[in-house]
Amino acid sequence: MENQNVNGEGEKEIVSRHFIEQEIDKDLREGVYDHVCTRFPPEPNGYLHIGHAKSILLNYGLAKEYGGKFNMRFDDTNPTKEKTEFVESILEDIKWLGADWEDRLFFASDYFGQMYEKAVLLIKKGKAYVSDLSADEIREYRGTLKEPGKEDPYSGRSVEENLALFEAMKNGEFEDGQKVLRARIDMKSSNINMRDPILYRVAHMTHHNTGDQWCIYPMYDFAHPIEDAIEGITHSICTLEFEDHRPLYDWVVRECEFPNPPRQIEFAKLYLTNVVTGKRYIKKLVEDGIVDGWDDPRLVSIAALRRRGFTPASIQKFVELCGVSKANSSADYAMLEYCIREDMKLKNPRVMAVMDPIKLVIDNYPEGQVEELDAANNLENPELGSHKVPFMKELYIERSDFMEEPPKKYYRLFPGNEVRLMHAYFVKCTGFERDEDGNVTVVHCTYDPATKAGSGFSERKVKGTIHWVPVQGAVKATARLYENLVDEEKGVYNKEDGSLNLNPNSLTICDNCLIEPVIADAKAFEGFQFVRNGFFCVDYKDSKPGALVFNRVVSLKSSFKLPKS
Ligand code: ATP
Ligand code: MG
Repeated sequence: MENQNVNGEGEKEIVSRHFIEQEIDKDLREGVYDHVCTRFPPEPNGYLHIGHAKSILLNYGLAKEYGGKFNMRFDDTNPTKEKTEFVESILEDIKWLGADWEDRLFFASDYFGQMYEKAVLLIKKGKAYVSDLSADEIREYRGTLKEPGKEDPYSGRSVEENLALFEAMKNGEFEDGQKVLRARIDMKSSNINMRDPILYRVAHMTHHNTGDQWCIYPMYDFAHPIEDAIEGITHSICTLEFEDHRPLYDWVVRECEFPNPPRQIEFAKLYLTNVVTGKRYIKKLVEDGIVDGWDDPRLVSIAALRRRGFTPASIQKFVELCGVSKANSSADYAMLEYCIREDMKLKNPRVMAVMDPIKLVIDNYPEGQVEELDAANNLENPELGSHKVPFMKELYIERSDFMEEPPKKYYRLFPGNEVRLMHAYFVKCTGFERDEDGNVTVVHCTYDPATKAGSGFSERKVKGTIHWVPVQGAVKATARLYENLVDEEKGVYNKEDGSLNLNPNSLTICDNCLIEPVIADAKAFEGFQFVRNGFFCVDYKDSKPGALVFNRVVSLKSSFKLPKS
C-alpha cells in the first residue's frame, strides 16, 4: 500500500493511494466528514528533523489534496521543556519546507480554560476523580501487561468532593505531586492506557505563554484530543507509538461530548539508517562541541539540512519516495543524497574549483597573455548559459592531478603525459619542481595551440581531462567536506555503553581552496557544481564577501538506485 508516486525520468507515473488517503476517501464517501482538516502539532522543545518533515508534508499535502485546511499548532501543554526560541525555529523550518498555515496558527495553551471545563464535565458525569496516590503508588496500582490493575482507593469520592478538590488543585492549594485528576475508565482493561489514566497534575511552574496563571497542567492524552476537537480537525494523523492510545483518544472526545469528533490515524515514523536523530544525543553532541550547534551541516535537523544546501524540493521528493505506511522501516541516507543531486544537477552552474592547489606553468604560453574562454554553465541545461574564464601562463590544478610515478590507469598529469585542460588546450607535462622537503611545488608543461576547445581539433585523443583556475583573479575560499557523523561500520550506538560511534573524519576543511573569478559574488544559500568535486552551497552563517565558505551538499556520484516501482 506504499505511495509510489515516482516521476523519475523515463518512468511511468504510477499513482496508488496510500492507506491514509483510502481512509479519508471512505470517510468522505460515507459522510463521516464533509471536509478535511489536518494539523501539525509539535511540542516546542527542540528543533525539527527530517522525520518531522515527513509529518508536516503529509498533513499539509492531505489538506491541499482534499481542498481542506491545515492548522499549525504548538502542543505547548508541558511547561518544563518548552521555549519560545523553539517556536520561532519551528515556524521558520515549516515555512521553508513550503507548508503554508495561512492564518491558522494555534497554541494548545490557549485552550487551558476549555480543557479545565471539560475536566469539570467529566467529574460531574462521574467519569473522573481526584486521587491522593503518589506517582509511585499509581504505577504500582496500574498492574502490568499480564496483571490487571487495582482500584484506586480514592476512586469512590463523591462528585461534590471531586469538584471541590479539583478546584482547590486549580487554586494552588496543593503541592506538586500531592493530587492528580484521573479518568474513571477500567483498571482491569487489557490496555494499560485505559486503566484510569491521569488527566491533570499539579505543577507550580511558569509557562512560556500563560505565565503563572495555571498550576495544574493537562496530560498529553487528555489535552491532545481536546485540541484537535476544538479546532475541528477531522483526521488526527500521528505516529505508530500512539496506536495503543487511540481507545483513550476516542474515549476523551466522546465523554467530553464533542459533536463530529476527529479520528486518529497512525503511520510509521521515518527513520534514517546510521543517522543520529534523537534529541538527547544531538543535545550531547552540541554540548560536547562535537558539532557546531543544532544546525551543524552534518546533522539532519531541518535547519541543518537547509544550511548544508538541501532544498525544499529535494526533501519533498525524499519524503515522497519513502511513502506512507504502517510498517516501520529505515531509509538510506543515500536516498536523500540522490534527491538533492537530482535537484541541483539541472539548476546550478558548474564552475572549476581546486580544493588542494598546486601551480601549473605553461612554459610556451606567451607571458602576459590572457584569453577569455567560454565555459558552459550546465551541459545538461543550456538555458543556464555560459560564462568566461580567463586562461593564462600560470594556473592552479589539483595536487592529486599530478603524479611523479603514476600507477596503472592513471590518466592525469605525469612527466611525458598529455591531458586536456577543461575548456582550454591540451598540455603535456615536461617536468616539475620540488621544495627542500621533496614536496612537488610546481608542475611544468607545454601547450599545443591547435587543440583549443571548440576548434574541432581531433587528431589526437587524450584520456584525462582536468580542471584548473587561473592564478590571477582566482578567488580564495574555504570548502567543507562532510562524511557521516557516525561510523557506519559500527552503527550509531555503542552496544556496551550506549554512546555514539563517531566517525573522526566527518569534517574536512579545505581552507586554501581556489575558485574561478566568476564565483566572487556568490550569495548565501547559492548552489554550484564544482567540476569533479561535487555540489556545494554557500554557508549562510560563516561565509563573508571576500572570505567565502562553501559546504559540500553531496558528491557527484553514488551507487544509489531509485527503487523500481
Ligand atoms: P518527543 O520525543 O519530544 O515527543 P517528537 O519528535 O515526537 O519528540 P513532537 O513535537 O511530539 O516531537 O512531534 C511532532 C509531530 O511529528 C508528531 O505528530 C510526531 O508524531 C511527528 N514525528 C516525530 N518524529 C517523527 C518521525 N521520525 N517520522 C514521522 N513523524 C514524526
Ligand atoms: Mg512527541
